[in-house]
Amino acid sequence: MTRRPAIQLHLKTVLNRIQHFAGFIYREVRLLDQDSSLRIDIHLEAHAAMDGKCAQCLLAASGYDRLPERFWRFVPLWGIPTGFFYAPRRVNCAEHGIGVEHIPWSAGKRPVTITMMVFLARWARRLSWRETARAFQTSWEAVYRSVDWFVQWGLAHRKLEGIEAIGIDEIHWGKGLRSENFLTVIYQIDRHCRRLLWVGPRRTQASLRRGLAALGPEVVRGLRFVCSDMWQPYLQVIAAQAGHALHILDRFHITSHLNQAVDQVRRAECNRLRGRPQAAKLKHMRWTLLRRGSRVRGRAKQKLYGLLHTKLATARAWMLKETFQDFWRYRSLTWAATFLDVWCERALRSRLEPMRKIARMLRSHEELILNWFKAKGEISNGPVEGLNNKIRVVTRRSYGFRTYHAMEAALYHNLGRLPEPELTHRFC
Ligand SMILES: [Zn+2]
Repeated sequence: MTRRPAIQLHLKTVLNRIQHFAGFIYREVRLLDQDSSLRIDIHLEAHAAMDGKCAQCLLAASGYDRLPERFWRFVPLWGIPTGFFYAPRRVNCAEHGIGVEHIPWSAGKRPVTITMMVFLARWARRLSWRETARAFQTSWEAVYRSVDWFVQWGLAHRKLEGIEAIGIDEIHWGKGLRSENFLTVIYQIDRHCRRLLWVGPRRTQASLRRGLAALGPEVVRGLRFVCSDMWQPYLQVIAAQAGHALHILDRFHITSHLNQAVDQVRRAECNRLRGRPQAAKLKHMRWTLLRRGSRVRGRAKQKLYGLLHTKLATARAWMLKETFQDFWRYRSLTWAATFLDVWCERALRSRLEPMRKIARMLRSHEELILNWFKAKGEISNGPVEGLNNKIRVVTRRSYGFRTYHAMEAALYHNLGRLPEPELTHRFC
């Protein structure tokens, strides 16, 4: 064990230990008490013997003149607002001419130090943006700008290598079913890395084309598996741009289509039976019916059995949905194809329009659905669903954002697994 002697503590010592900037020194730290509110001002100055650096090439350049003092918000100490003060030099670079020097704690014109932006951004993953702002005596706007900067940095520095499997999905956002209420997302769903790769507004062909273009032709060329829903605009773009990859309509989406169909049958039947005794069988059954039979327990299970003994349309729709689970258990492509054919036949004869609609949809996409069996062992069902649920948590928490850009930043921030700028000291 090494133990260093205890020292008389000066804030400058701490600052030099955790945040030393080569070529700059901490001149003075002041505690100000104005109208009984405290403030800590940290004054920096350039090292007298060292030239400033050109902000573009980071090479030393001769001094030109000095600009007025600027302020940057820093991580608060003991809940006391803390800031950096420094008068930047202008330097004359042989190559880039006269310009403001490189300031290592600053990012452009932002009035917040890089350290503080990283600090706020890290907290903004654990708390809501509003709570983060309140906890560290800053504004919601400052938290948003910090997250945005952090995300842009991460996107600029991330590596898009080894991406073999992607999932493409549409996400509902906000209220209503207009085109603006949907987002297109692209996930990486490889076993070794699951993350959000891209998000963009709307769910059109153009949205997906923009997403794939953002990933770049090299990433698209390297794809082996593409998972998606049966959304026609996506199917067309995938066929045109990633035809070399195995395109799979994944289990998660097909299951949610089946659930929606059962729910439609239930709602229509509820309306038809209103006021009649049979209606009681359907009461409070919505969530039970959306589950897999094996996951329904206790009284809900008894109620479900009670419903299944009736000749109600909802019971028949549920049974159809439940039998479809067997489809995913096949190992042989031939048997799976036979099952699908028989199931669709039954659904088409069911006289339940939502179920017939599903059967027609499954038939017309048979090949892409059966691709799931070709990719078996390589693609699992979980990741798209898992990422989807996480997205919902973020968009819901971010409901107050209102602007699309803020929500986009929050999604990348929470699900993008972006690299982070390195700091000499981890503040949080
Ligand atoms: Zn330069």
